[in-house]
Amino acid sequence: MGWREMAICQDQDPDLFFSVGPITSGPTLIQTDEAKAVCRRCPVMKQCLNWAIRVDPVEGIWGGTTEAERRAMRHRTARVSQDTTETAA
Ligand code: SF4
Repeated sequence: MGWREMAICQDQDPDLFFSVGPITSGPTLIQTDEAKAVCRRCPVMKQCLNWAIRVDPVEGIWGGTTEAERRAMRHRTARVSQDTTETAA
């Protein structure tokens, strides 16, 4: 069984994970928090997040993160990797 079959968002309204308003607006922030709360209860949150980071850019909440949060994670990982490479050289 793949991780997607264990995703608890299968029983949720998909629109919850794909907000349409600006991420800084009140209703969108509330919707984002609600989606993240679902993710925190999900048994495959880590697998989902790893997938979303790998395939980004992908819209919506995946693995308890927004697209912008995943972008920041990728940049941090790339920076650490670059620092490690430069230190080793
Ligand atoms: S972590 Fe969130 S988006 Fe990912 S499968 Fe679980 S509920 Fe769905």
